[in-house]
Formats: sequence, C-alpha cells, structure tokens
Amino acid sequence: MGIDIVVMQQCESCRGYTHVGGYLQTGINSGNPDCDCDAYRYSRKPKTCKHIKEAEKNACFWYQQYSKTPIEKDGICPKCGGFTEYVKVGV
Ligand SMILES: [Zn+2]
Ligand SMILES: [Zn+2]
Repeated sequence: MGIDIVVMQQCESCRGYTHVGGYLQTGINSGNPDCDCDAYRYSRKPKTCKHIKEAEKNACFWYQQYSKTPIEKDGICPKCGGFTEYVKVGV
C-alpha cells in the first residue's frame, strides 16, 4: 500500500512542454499530452488540438512509465533517438 517512488526515464524533448497553448499536462495521467482548450475538450478520440500538434513537432512525449516500447540503450529515447533524463515518479 502507499506510493513508491521509483526512478524512471523520460525523453528530454518533453522538458518544457508542461505548459503549451492552454494547459498541457504531459504524462500526468496517461502519458499522453492533454490541453484544456475547448478544441481539445470537445475533440473525438484520439483527442488532440493545435497546441498538442505544435508541441509534437518538437517533443516526442515518450515516458518510460507509460510506454510499452522497451529501452534498448540506457539513456537513449527509443521513440526519437534523443537523450533521456531521469525522473522520480510515484507508482
Ligand atoms: Zn489546446
Ligand atoms: Zn524522444
């Protein structure tokens, strides 16, 4: 019971994309970026909006915690090939 803090990796390109457009929360609930603008809120699945599309040009939103893609090389993002950074997450 309770929350364990573990160290995981996430793609470095995600850094700085916690606030894009309206209010983009990356990886908080599902690992998918979300936004609080109306376009996002009322879009059908897969939910997206222009803010997320813009952010996805620069950030790949890969999070070890949510991704099914295994890490092949430590410190390298398996999705975009960029560097990863280590983050503490509660599980
Ligand atoms: Zn938006
Ligand atoms: Zn990446």
